[in-house]
Amino acid sequence: MKVSDMTLGQKQRHFTQMIAQLIEYAYANDYRLTFGDAYRDPRLHGDVGVKKSYSSAGSLHKSRLAVDFNLFKDGKYLTASDDHKPLGEFWESIGGTWGGRFPSPDGNHYSLEHRGRK
Ligand SMILES: [Zn+2]
Repeated sequence: MKVSDMTLGQKQRHFTQMIAQLIEYAYANDYRLTFGDAYRDPRLHGDVGVKKSYSSAGSLHKSRLAVDFNLFKDGKYLTASDDHKPLGEFWESIGGTWGGRFPSPDGNHYSLEHRGRK
């Protein structure tokens, strides 16, 4: 099934499996990860379209379609957007949207586009 034909629920479950692939890819390439923000509860962050916290109004975190990862290599915490590029390119190769491409780069953000939201 094409991702664009998926319901939100199907897409969320596909996204989770994509994240598993991303984590496996990272560890196979000597990166280590911890989770930053994954789901952002609309009760705290506002419904989609509503700006209520640090989260953007249309954030895919509110729809379970985005995860932020903290990146490590050789015991060092890598904080630059560009540090994520190898993982970002892998993520794009399996159909994801990488935040490192945003006008204001957000390299630790890995999402799956939904109705124009990234
Ligand atoms: Zn994010």
